[in-house]
Amino acid sequence: MADQAFVTLATNDNYARGAMVLGKSLRNHNTAKKLVVLVSPQVSTPCQSVLKNIFDEVKVVDVLDSGDTAHLAMMKRPDLGVTFTKLHCWTLTHYSKCVFMDADTLVLSNIDELFEREEMSAAPDPGWPDCFNSGVFVFRPSVETYGKLLQYCTEHGSFDGGDQGVLNGFFNDWATADISKHLPFIYNLSSIAIYTYLPAFKQYGGNAKVVHFLGKTKPWSCTFNCKTREIYGGVQEPATHPSFLLNWWTLYASSVVPMLQEQHGDQPFH
Ligand code: UDP
Ligand code: MN
Repeated sequence: MADQAFVTLATNDNYARGAMVLGKSLRNHNTAKKLVVLVSPQVSTPCQSVLKNIFDEVKVVDVLDSGDTAHLAMMKRPDLGVTFTKLHCWTLTHYSKCVFMDADTLVLSNIDELFEREEMSAAPDPGWPDCFNSGVFVFRPSVETYGKLLQYCTEHGSFDGGDQGVLNGFFNDWATADISKHLPFIYNLSSIAIYTYLPAFKQYGGNAKVVHFLGKTKPWSCTFNCKTREIYGGVQEPATHPSFLLNWWTLYASSVVPMLQEQHGDQPFH
C-alpha cells in the first residue's frame, strides 16, 4: 500500500550507514511498503545521496530551524535533541500507518505483516519488560498526536533521557491495556538478550525477524576484515548461531560500500 511506510532516522553519518543497511535489508526481503528516512542537516551530502538511492523519501528535519512547537520544545529541553527529531515521524501525515525502526536494526525476513497492528505496538524491552523498546514500533502519523507528544516531552521530560522514556510515559497503558499491541520479541530481538538468557536465544533465536544492535557498541563501530570475514571490537556472539553482526557486515560490504565509493570517488570507505 502506497500510504504505508517504514521510517528510520539518522542524525549523523554513522547512523546513516546503519540506515543504509536497514533500508537494503528491507528491500532484499521484498517489502511492498515505502521506505522513509529522516535525516538531520549534519548528514553529509554523499551519505544523503546514497540514502536517496535506497529510500523512497529522504526528509531533512531541522528541529532548530523549524520555528514551530518543536523548536519551542527544544529550547526548553535541549538535552532531548535526538528525541525531538525522532518524534518528527508523527508529522509524516501523507502516510496512514508507519513502522518506525531504529537505524541500528537489521531485517532478517519480510515483516510487512506488522502493518496489521495498531499504534502503539512494540516489543518488550529486555531490561524492563513492562516498558516497550522504542527501536521498532507501529504508529499512525497525526499532527494532533505529534503536538501532544511534544507537550508531554516539555512538561515531563524523559525518565531515561531518550525517546523510549518519553514514549513509555505517553503510551503508559501499553503493559496492561491490549495484548495485541505487544509485538513478539522476534520483531525486535535485542542483541543483549543473547547473553542475558542464552538457552532461550538458542531455542528461539533462529526465528528472529529483526535484530536490534542496542547499546553502546554498534556494528559500524567495529572493524571488518573482508578476506577473513572476522569482526574486531564487537560483542562476542555464541558460536552455535549464525552471527547477526556478520549478517550486518556482509550486507554493508557487498551493497553499501560500493554505493559510498561511487559518491566518494575512489576513496576507500570502511
Ligand atoms: N539516533 C541518531 N543519532 C544519534 C543517536 C540516535 O540518529 O546520535 C537515532 C537512530 O535511528 C538510532 C535511534 O535514534 O537507532 C535510537 O538510538 P540508539 O539506537 O543509539 O539507542 P539504543 O537502541 O542503543 O538504546
Ligand atoms: Mn537502537
